[in-house]
Amino acid sequence: MTPLKALGGTSDILPEEAQAWQQLEEKARRVFQLYGYQEIRTPLIEEAAVFTSSLGEAAEIVTKQMYLFEDRGGRSVALRPEGTASVVRALIEHGLDKTSPLNRFYYGGAMFRAERPQKGRRRQFHQIGVEVFGSASPHQDVELLCLLKRLLEEWGLSGWKLKLNSLGCREDRAKIVEHVRATLAPQAAKLCEDCRQRLEKNPLRILDCKEEGCRKLCEGIDVYEAVCAPCKEHFEQVKRGLEALAVPFDRDPHLVRGLDYYTRTAFEVVHPGLGAQDALGGGGRYDDLVKLMGGSTPVPAIGFAVGIERVLMALESAGPKPPEPAARPVYVAAVSSAEIPNALELAEQLRRAGIAAFANLEERPLGRQMKQASSMGARFALILGADEVKEKMVMVKDMQTGEQKKESLADALRKVNHNA
Ligand code: AMP
Repeated sequence: MTPLKALGGTSDILPEEAQAWQQLEEKARRVFQLYGYQEIRTPLIEEAAVFTSSLGEAAEIVTKQMYLFEDRGGRSVALRPEGTASVVRALIEHGLDKTSPLNRFYYGGAMFRAERPQKGRRRQFHQIGVEVFGSASPHQDVELLCLLKRLLEEWGLSGWKLKLNSLGCREDRAKIVEHVRATLAPQAAKLCEDCRQRLEKNPLRILDCKEEGCRKLCEGIDVYEAVCAPCKEHFEQVKRGLEALAVPFDRDPHLVRGLDYYTRTAFEVVHPGLGAQDALGGGGRYDDLVKLMGGSTPVPAIGFAVGIERVLMALESAGPKPPEPAARPVYVAAVSSAEIPNALELAEQLRRAGIAAFANLEERPLGRQMKQASSMGARFALILGADEVKEKMVMVKDMQTGEQKKESLADALRKVNHNA
């Protein structure tokens, strides 16, 4: 049989890499805790309507990229392409907005989009994101962006840029769409093929088309011109707040994000080390989404998601980092196969005391065991032979100096614990 392979656009995260993932996740958890966010975990699979009713029918995630299928019961289900819609579904389903006026959540995990795999574009990728429900205040936008900055700093990322824009409210959005369509319609022939289609269905996406010709045609367009006075005031307060807290940003008049649900503040973080797919993450306000998805009352909300693969790519682009010191287990050796059960028992005792231990479980010469202990970076080897077992003692070998001394189990434990 030909060996099986992972599907294109999906990847195994091998142990060496998984360490970097764990570090990113731990650092993120610490930041979220500092800001008072709680974890929420939603299923990877949802009724397709969770996404089709929220992201917008013309959104490319829905039209082209969603893993959509009928399950055995004939239901239309989808693998989640993003996190927000599921979290909103959970908020409504469990009435979380009724039990607490303010909810701050974070989540992490796999997302699925049937995109053409390329650098920075996977079919299964991973996001860490946050969502805040119950605050319409511009100060909440500012605090959320402070959290995002802190997260990127904790991860050791530099050189990133925060791009910021306002899309106004729902009514403004309709005006913006018309404004963009009316401006570009006379030049439709000069647009790329995709954008000619977008002109009908989703004209806002033309603003972030990467084709040189389309970019030129969009140069003079600023969506902010169509934004109403209260939304403009909200945005001015956000900008003032960011300036006061030294969160650097650039206003980008063409930043629209791909999904229908965004209102008011929208943002994206880009990094020069990523190449064509240069977004590390993005998000914005979505004040109408809870109502739109069936909530009984409107709940103002804001959130963002960051792509973990892209964070790792950006960190790599800054050059190799010295590897984190690996855990150094205590090696427990058995002189002959008769002492293997004792080695296993001693290793368990060490682990109960919170000390990482590796027990030799194979019948092999002591010399080979010591080689293995060195290659694992063990600081100590505890060697058990027939005499040691009988005397309830253990031979403690310092792997750095090569010195060895017979000691009581209690003394040996104290010694390795002290040097752990
Ligand atoms: P989006 O929901 O499209 O704004 O995505 C948020 C972030 O998730 C992006 O900025 C990327 O970092 C990451 N991301 C989105 N799609 C992919 C993908 N297909 N492969 C890898 N990362 C992705």
